[in-house]
Amino acid sequence: MQLNQLTIKEAQEKLEKGEITSVELTHACLDRIKEIDDRVKACLTVCEKEALAEAEQADARRAKGEKGALLGIPYLAKDNILTRGLKTTAASKILENYIAPFDATIIKRLREAGAVLLGKTNLDEFAHGASTENSAFGPTHNPWDFSRVPGGSSGGSGAAVAADMCLFALGTDTGGSIRCPAAFCGITGLKPSYGRGSRFGLISMTSSTDVPGPLTKTVEDAAIVLAAIAGADKYDATTVDEEVNPTDLEAMGGLKKIKIGLPKEYFIPGTDPEVAKALEEAIEEFKKLGAEFEEVSLPHTKYGIPVYYIITPSEISSNLARFDGIKYGYSAADGDDGRSFSLIDIYKKSRGQGFGPEAKRRIMLGTYALSAGYYDAYYLQAQKVRTIIKKEMDEALEKVDLLLTPTSPHPAFKLGAQAADPLKMYLEDIFVTGASLAGLPAMSIPCGFAHPEDGGEALPVGMQLISKRFDEALLFRIGYNYQKATDWHKKKPNL
Ligand code: GLN
Repeated sequence: MQLNQLTIKEAQEKLEKGEITSVELTHACLDRIKEIDDRVKACLTVCEKEALAEAEQADARRAKGEKGALLGIPYLAKDNILTRGLKTTAASKILENYIAPFDATIIKRLREAGAVLLGKTNLDEFAHGASTENSAFGPTHNPWDFSRVPGGSSGGSGAAVAADMCLFALGTDTGGSIRCPAAFCGITGLKPSYGRGSRFGLISMTSSTDVPGPLTKTVEDAAIVLAAIAGADKYDATTVDEEVNPTDLEAMGGLKKIKIGLPKEYFIPGTDPEVAKALEEAIEEFKKLGAEFEEVSLPHTKYGIPVYYIITPSEISSNLARFDGIKYGYSAADGDDGRSFSLIDIYKKSRGQGFGPEAKRRIMLGTYALSAGYYDAYYLQAQKVRTIIKKEMDEALEKVDLLLTPTSPHPAFKLGAQAADPLKMYLEDIFVTGASLAGLPAMSIPCGFAHPEDGGEALPVGMQLISKRFDEALLFRIGYNYQKATDWHKKKPNL
């Protein structure tokens, strides 16, 4: 096995025993990126020199007796997470040359833990999308089949982990953007509870649902990364001071008497039959492990997409107002002597030339939904239904310990297949918006393979586990026991 293929847990053991160094581990990842990223296109920036310097520091810290689960572990971060002194573009032309002046809190925490930042990954522009095709710098390709999307919007992070370019990656999930690429790329992806991890230094999309989280090779690794990045932050008033999850998952026990709810609205005819079959087999596996199942109903699930696609563009239209061609980012007036542009011209041209079509679509939708005449009918109404969705999910989670659903109704689709139809692309989020609107933690883990409808090799399938707010520990316990009993998470694309 090559070093870049290790899990965090495995690498940590080898580092501790002195069998390998962080510099070697970092070189292995950088070599892998050089070897295949011209085909996968997962990375927007690779900071080789800085990474090797950080790896040396980590080795020096270890030599002095320091220990730590992430000390010397190389990772990649989605390019909407601020990294001091490095480009942070959000995959948008408007931030093409933007150098972040400070680190996001989660990056700062990882630096303190001694993790090694290798670079930044591709995404849908401003994280708007489910396929990573909305990037201003071109799409990322799915390592399982280069003609397909890796999912989105954290598609660069998902593809990079699946192709072993790093030991883990950071993503953000606003309405599925960690879970969807995890499912399409055959890896583990955790969207923590809203408020679990600081949003300070994330480029805002939808402030009421944005959450940073890990994309990893195993559930165990997700627990390690979450423990490092989570916790209250004085720069984000929505973070909470809840106890952070344990990382010794073995000690959490088995699944006897755990009650798993199957929401009937998530098991619907439109789902690919092989995806449905993979889910059935996962359910059987859980039964063997001692878990019990019960059908539950979440009748407002069908309003998840419409509600999400009113609230999200509304918050986006407000959050993207800061990109005006003056404060920072691309300016149509750069280099002009101040005579040819009026203020309005600068706004219009900078935004017109800087934003891609999906960002513009969302700005228009959101501005409309928030406008005086339509606010009550759209935004306010959507918030009311959101409250019902949240209440309904909370009530179901009183009856059962967690919910199990497919992450996506089908495996990865072809590049370009949905790009021309934004509504179809929005429907990709059918199973993932609920947990986002309700602020619940949700994790996608690999549970089998399915042949895509349009032909080709079998592709990874993900299942989604949703638990009570701030009970990521239960997701880890369930996922860990499942990964101990199965090896879907060990399958690798043949590159
Ligand atoms: N597909 C969703 C959207 O386009 C997910 C976005 C996200 O989670 N960042 O809004």
